Amino acid sequence: MKLKAILLICLLAMCLPANASAERKIPILIYHSIAEFKGHGAKELYVAPDEFEKQMLYLREHGFTPLTFEQWQEADQVAKPIFLTFDDGYKNNLTAFAIFQKLKTEGFTPKGTFFVISDFIGRSNRLSEADLKKLAASGIISVQSHTATHPDLTKVDNLEYELKSSKEAIERITGKPVIALSYPYGTFNKKVIAETKKFYEFGIATTPEYYVKSGAKDERYTLPRLYITYTTTLAEFAKIVEGK
Ligand SMILES: [Zn+2]
Repeated sequence: MKLKAILLICLLAMCLPANASAERKIPILIYHSIAEFKGHGAKELYVAPDEFEKQMLYLREHGFTPLTFEQWQEADQVAKPIFLTFDDGYKNNLTAFAIFQKLKTEGFTPKGTFFVISDFIGRSNRLSEADLKKLAASGIISVQSHTATHPDLTKVDNLEYELKSSKEAIERITGKPVIALSYPYGTFNKKVIAETKKFYEFGIATTPEYYVKSGAKDERYTLPRLYITYTTTLAEFAKIVEGK
């Protein structure tokens, strides 16, 4: 009887927390341009500012907690964690920042991660050094790396420039640690993961899934993301973020 009781307690201790976290789906969203589409580039890589504002309002009204990768451990402690990421470092991401500031309340702090291409910083349609300094200092935007030149990393022989120099360049500008890398085109392989591990704590892909903690060896280097596009309706957005 005693043995049975001990076994039962052990089983409960092993199974319950594991099951609870194993089923938890955390959305990591990917955006690119926050602007009206005016015919340049791929329409689906834009989200109109008024739509974006409605999406952020939805998060505010439905109890979400936007997190950055520095807060990874907090995901287990908040009711509805969500990660908002923006790739390519477009100048129009300043609009997302302005909307974040506008919607910030005592109980809701919208936060996001801007993945910038270090060699593109300061180009006419990209964020400048001054922009990045201001964003990083705001405490609501985490500026992280999207490599130095945006290549397909699986086809690059010398990964050090893309991974290490981009990290260092961004850290020099913002004065804050760069701990996350977003893989251009979402492509990676074993070698890319191994090199990324040398310089980063997180590798972010574009596999269209929720993040579900699995305990797999490389799970922090193969983080999936869900696309929000120009044609995503608010009803669709709600379904995506609620995991339905
Ligand atoms: Zn990109």
